[in-house]
This record gives sequence, structure tokens and C-alpha cells, in this order.
Amino acid sequence: MSARDEQGPRAPLWPWLQPALQGALDQLNSHAVLLHGAPGIGQFEFGLALARAWLCEAQPAGSAFRPACGLCASCHLIDAGSHPDLKVVLPEALQASLGWQAGGSEEGEGGDKAEKSSGKGKKLSQEIKVEAIRAVVQFSQNTASRGRAKVVLLHPAERMNLVAANTLLKTLEEPPGQVRFVLSGSALDELLPTVRSRCQAWRLPWPEEAAAASWLADAVEGLSQTDAQVLLSAAGGQPLTARERHELGLDARYWPMIPKDLVQGNATALTSWPLPLVVETLQKLCHDLACTAVGAAPRYFPASSLPKPPHLDRLTLWSQELRKLSRHAEHPWNAGLKVETLLLQARAVMAPKVSRPR
Ligand SMILES: [Zn+2]
Repeated sequence: MSARDEQGPRAPLWPWLQPALQGALDQLNSHAVLLHGAPGIGQFEFGLALARAWLCEAQPAGSAFRPACGLCASCHLIDAGSHPDLKVVLPEALQASLGWQAGGSEEGEGGDKAEKSSGKGKKLSQEIKVEAIRAVVQFSQNTASRGRAKVVLLHPAERMNLVAANTLLKTLEEPPGQVRFVLSGSALDELLPTVRSRCQAWRLPWPEEAAAASWLADAVEGLSQTDAQVLLSAAGGQPLTARERHELGLDARYWPMIPKDLVQGNATALTSWPLPLVVETLQKLCHDLACTAVGAAPRYFPASSLPKPPHLDRLTLWSQELRKLSRHAEHPWNAGLKVETLLLQARAVMAPKVSRPR
């Protein structure tokens, strides 16, 4: 949140995505666009940059779109979150972190709803619900207030529930004149094929490692360039994920020590982490051990930090158990699940002399 605040509420396009913007503006001419790529690289901000460009009132007449000027009335209205021809649709749970007040559902129209709700401990919805899509349909049918175009930015598209996706389908099929849709997300196989087929797809480029690491070193106070590299690898090369994991307690200097600490039964630092982060970390370790077991390079941990890999059968079994758990790690009934149990299991898998789990 703090890094977001420093950038202002309408974050500019991430540096690793800037080179791709002009190409996207040149090629994306459909009324409906589907942006996809790995999570944690900035689909939403890229979609917003497209919307800004399409709505920018300083575009030269008759020629191709350029990135938004950032100075015209339209750009200022987007910065203020009050452009009448832009509709941003996000699940409640993402509104605060993306710095955007969704104007989709009926309760989405006023105030700092997300903060208030989370303050009371109310569970914020992870879904895009049909009420939000009904508002989109209605928005699409109005004429553009500023006479230029209208844009609907919907993120993450795969979070539309089935009813919501079906409700959107007809408007995507026969869009009213001036409206353009940007759907973005990272799990597009979870999206209805009928929705996918109505959109022009655009794959976001993978962040270039050096650019991503130097951004991360700037974004996280006190993080050296070397530590930024470690943190970036720990997040599978996704810079936004890396920053978020750091905020959850992942320490770049501790990360390479985790495998050996686990083997020795000393990984007590992990007990203060949220359960989903522990599960994810163990999944990454399991993945990397499987890589080294077949002679491939690890992806998340430095090769030198990994113990000798156990037999693949054992890793497969562990991986299956972790995957099952990861699907439900955020469920309240898992709150009582002891991280210690998971750590013991990890130790047992990696150290053959200790008795096997289960
Ligand atoms: Zn402008």
C-alpha cells in the first residue's frame, strides 16, 4: 500500500511494460481486447494505459493512437477516478490494492468502501458479480459524455462468475457503437470460451529481468540490487508479486536459507508467515528439488541453497499434497492448521533418515 501511495492513486504504467504500449495501440483495433500474461506483471495497469490513450483528448486527429498525454481534461479525470466514459470493474477484494474504486456494483459507488469493510473484518468478494456486469451493460448503452469513446476495463476477467460472464456475452457480441472493452487476467483458461472468442487477444511481454530487478530495488526500501534479484526469482520473475511477498514478510536474505533450515528443523521464521505464503514457498521448493533431481536448473531458489533432492516419487507425493492444500489455504477452516505440521512434513520429505510423513 505504501508504495502505491507514493505513486498516487492512478499508478503509471510499470517500466517493464512501457516498451509494449505503442505496439499494442497500433495492433489492438477490435472493440474487445483480452490482455493476458503471468500474474503479478501488471495487466490492470496496461489495460488502464490503453483506456487512457483511447480516451485522451490530445490525440492527433486521423492518425494512430499514441500513449496518453497525461495533461488533458480526460487524463486528469482518469487520474481523479471520475471519468464519465471509463468504467473500471474489479472484485471488491482488489479495489484497495489497485487504488481504484470500482463503480460496478450498487455498493461500489461511494467512499472508501473496501477499507471500511476490511476494517470491520468483513470478507471482501473475490468475484466479479452479475450486478457489476449489469451496470456495464447499462453503461455501454449510454452515449459517451465527452463524445470521444467509452471504455470498460474489467479485471481479472476470470473472476467473473458464470452468470456474470453470460450477462456480458451479448454486449460483447453486439457492442453498442462507441464502447471498447478491455478484459485482462492471468488464468484465461478459466474464462468462458465464448467470451474469449469474442475478443482480440494480446499477450503481455514477460518483464525483462534487469528492468524488473532495478524497479524492485527502488520500490522496496533498503533492498540492494542483489537482494532484488533473489526476491524476483523467489516470485518467479513477477515484480509485483515480489513486492507483495516482501510485504507479507518474505526476506530476500532469508530466502536462500530456507531449504537448509527446513532440513535442520530450524525454519521457525516461517511460522509467522500467512499460511498461503508458507504453502506457496514449500511448493516452490518442491518444484526446484524436482528440477534438480532431473538435472534442470531451479527456478525460485539459488541452486547452491538446495539440499540433495529426494527421490522423485516422494516429491510427487509431496507436490500433490501441497497442491490440494493450496486450493484451500485461505479457507477459514484452515486457520487452525499448524504451519509446524507442514514444516515437519517438508523436513521428512527432504531428510530420508527421518521417518516419512503420514
Ligand atoms: Zn490526455
